[in-house]
Formats: sequence, structure tokens, C-alpha cells
Amino acid sequence: MDSQTIHYLTIHEAHDLLRRREVSARELMEATLTRVSETEERVRSYVSLTEELALRQADEADRRLTNGDNFSPLTGVPGAIKDVICTDGFRTTCSSRMLENFVPPYNAHVMEQLLSAGLVMVGKTNMDEFAMGSSTENSAFFPTHNPWDLDRVPGGSSGGSAAAVAAGEAVYALGSDTGGSIRQPAALCGIVGLKPTYGRVSRYGLVAFASSLDQIGPMTRDVTDAALVLNAIAGHDPRDSTSAPIETPDFTAGLTGDIKGLRLGVPKEYFVEGMDANVRRTVETAVRKLEELGATVDWDVSLPSTPHALACYYIIAPSEASANLARYDGVKYGFSYQEGEGMWDNMEKTRQFGFGDEVKRRIMLGTYALSAGYYDAYYLKAQKVRTLIRREFDAAFERYDALVTAVTPTTAFKLGEKTQDPLQMYLSDVCTIPVNIAGLPAISLPCGFVDGLPVGLQVIGKPFDEATVLRVAHAYEQATDWHTARPSL
Ligand code: GLN
Repeated sequence: MDSQTIHYLTIHEAHDLLRRREVSARELMEATLTRVSETEERVRSYVSLTEELALRQADEADRRLTNGDNFSPLTGVPGAIKDVICTDGFRTTCSSRMLENFVPPYNAHVMEQLLSAGLVMVGKTNMDEFAMGSSTENSAFFPTHNPWDLDRVPGGSSGGSAAAVAAGEAVYALGSDTGGSIRQPAALCGIVGLKPTYGRVSRYGLVAFASSLDQIGPMTRDVTDAALVLNAIAGHDPRDSTSAPIETPDFTAGLTGDIKGLRLGVPKEYFVEGMDANVRRTVETAVRKLEELGATVDWDVSLPSTPHALACYYIIAPSEASANLARYDGVKYGFSYQEGEGMWDNMEKTRQFGFGDEVKRRIMLGTYALSAGYYDAYYLKAQKVRTLIRREFDAAFERYDALVTAVTPTTAFKLGEKTQDPLQMYLSDVCTIPVNIAGLPAISLPCGFVDGLPVGLQVIGKPFDEATVLRVAHAYEQATDWHTARPSL
């Protein structure tokens, strides 16, 4: 097998080779580490590599595969984990100075699930600090670069995970998505990213940003792989009170390539002002492809509250973040400033030096929105808008099986281009945020290129209907070959 082939295997391709013992998990992991050593200097996807652990896990996977029992489609396949997900005994930083040396004493639920499925962990991936951002430039350590153009951002906040998969530094990765952080970087890096329905995947052990919006999900090279990873991580977990007590179907079961008769809607509000005309054209061409494949498409759907989603999110998410991040006081864990004048001063300086600018901005916004006298005007109002947005989706889903939209208004932007203007940065997520507000499942998948940079197509589904989302995405993928394009690194 040539090196390009081995670095760009999908999970299901790797699994076939592993099961037939044509390649061992150790060989696969060693090839991955070689790739990492060749590309990492330029891409910088990883905050920490876990080579030793990975090789041990690979050997264990080989034992399972050789014995022929107790293996899953993920056994022995190299995966990367966003550094917001707790890994027992391994540093989990959230790309923040605050948690730079934090070693969790337990695994997140998704880690337990992946480890029992046979995960071989390459490392922990870079991100915007505490998942706040759209470019991975808010990492306290270093920015990650887009494998398609190293002068550009990979998106964020799961930019490290997206870049690792796009650069062949891992077969798949986990990301987290509060307002778009799986789908937006997936789109900008030309891979598949799935945000499951809120409640589908346990948040136990996911460092909290905005608890009513956060969800963990797969970032992969194709749609089948996304279904395979979702199979492994979904399921009820009593340790997360918002985890839904419902069955996990086999998400690969509906991947037939057949979408005849499916009713799709294109909400016009998603073609926002300022959207790049070529991105728009690319997305429209992709929707026409779905039409050709036999879906009926209504091009004139309206979800009138959509333009308020961004404002609503930037009240709700910072409010929840301000509460969640109150725990970083220098006492319980993480960075602790000790040279101040007493307890209050130490606490203040811990937060002053431990958090970056964007995190502080969100804490201030959230604290303000929740304060007495402003609570009703901001937070309560935002919750009402949230209800309106959710109701409009509910009404639309009485008529359509899924909605299709763009993922981002533009392709990957240049590093530094938006760092001075938070509002411009926030606009990167206009098409993804409403989905989190309503708690729905949505996927981003490659649907073309503009000037050599990837463009993503978003498919949004009914609550807990990831199956239809995956089915539409898979049918499109079968009929096109965008997902097979690789950056020339
Ligand atoms: N970019 C959005 C934000 O900065 C979404 C981030 C996310 O989904 N974690 O809040």
C-alpha cells in the first residue's frame, strides 16, 4: 500500500484491511505517527500526542482482531480526540492556560464508549479556548493551519480535529458543537462533521461551555464513517441528566443511496447577506443533485426567525458559559495564582492570567445578561426567541423530511483576518447556530470547491432523526466524489 493510501483510509476501509489481517493496528498506528511527524510542523492539529498509549492500544487491538472476538468497526483505527473531552490520566487543556496542566481523574462517557470499541488514540486536538471561536486562533497555545492552504484557518472551534482528519493525521476525530464547532471546521477542511441531536450523546466528561447547546459528534472522511462513530458514542447515560433514554439504532442501516420521494426544503433565510456568490452557487448545485437523485425539493421555504438566531445565541451561550466557567477559581483545579494579596486577589489574578480575551469577553457578556435588571430584557427574551426558532423548525418538519442549507457563508479565511473583529468572527456560524438553538441533528459534508478551498453542504433533520440526515448525505456522497479530494500537503 502506498503511503497516500494508508493515510487516507476511511474507518470502514481500514476495518476491512484489519479484519483480513492485511495490515495490523500497529502498522496503521506507526504509519499515522510517521504522517504526523511529516505534517504536524505545518498543520499543528495536536495539543498533545499520546504515542506510547496509542502503540499499547494498537497491540491490544491486534490481539482482539487476531482472536476474532470482541472487536468493532473502530477496533485498531487511529482516532483523535478534541482536547475538551476528559481523558483519564492524560492532560485535557481546552487549549487554555487555565487547564494547561489539568489531568482528569476519569474518562468522559464517549471515551469509555470508544475505548471499549477499541480506540487507538493518536492524541488530543487543538481548539479555540473552551470551544469559543470559529478559527482555532483563540487557542492559548498556537493556531492550527488549514491543510488546503496553510495561510488559512481550519475553522473552529474543533479546528484541530478537522485539520487532523483532512491532513491524514488520524482516520477520524471527535469534536464538540455548541454553535457550529463540528460542522463549520468540517466544511472549511473538506471533511464530514455530524452534530447529533441534543441528548443523543452524553456530555458527561465534556468540559462545559454552554450546557443547553453542547453536543459531541464525529468528524470523518465520509458519511459511513460518521454513522459508525455515532453508533459507538450514542446512547443513554444517567450521568448526564439531559441524555435521552432512547434506543440507539444502527445508523449505517439506512445508507442505501436511495432518497427517492424524500421531501427536502431549502430555507431562503440561510442564503444570508454577504454570502460568497460562488459558495451559494456550489450549494445550489448540490441541492439540484439531490433533486436529480429523486428527492422533491421546495426551494422556497421560509423560517422567518432565522436572522435572530445569532443574537439569541450570543446571549444564551455566554450566559451559560459565565456560570460554567465560575468554577475556575484557582482553588478546585487548574491554574492557581498564589502571589497575590490574599484570597480574593489570588482568585482575580487566576482568572486574569488563566483566561484569554475571548473567554473573558464571553464571561462579561454573560454575567451582564444575567444580572438583576437585565435578566428579563436579555436572557429571558433570548429564551423566548429560542422557542420561536424551535417552533418554526417543528412546523417545517411537518412538511419536509430534512432541510438543506450552506454550512458557512464563505470558504476558509486567512489567519488573522477576523481576529480584531469579534462580530465578523461570530458571523461564520450564522448557518449552523439555529440548529443548536433548536437542538436538532445536522451534518456538514463536502460539496465542491471555490478557488481550491472546500465548501460544505448542511443537512438538518428532525430531533433524533440522524438516520435521515445520514441517508441524504450518503446518497449525495455516492453520486459525487468531492469527499475523495485530498489537499497537497
Ligand atoms: N463559533 C461559535 C462560538 O464561538 C460556536 C462555537 C462552538 O460551537 N463551540 O461560540
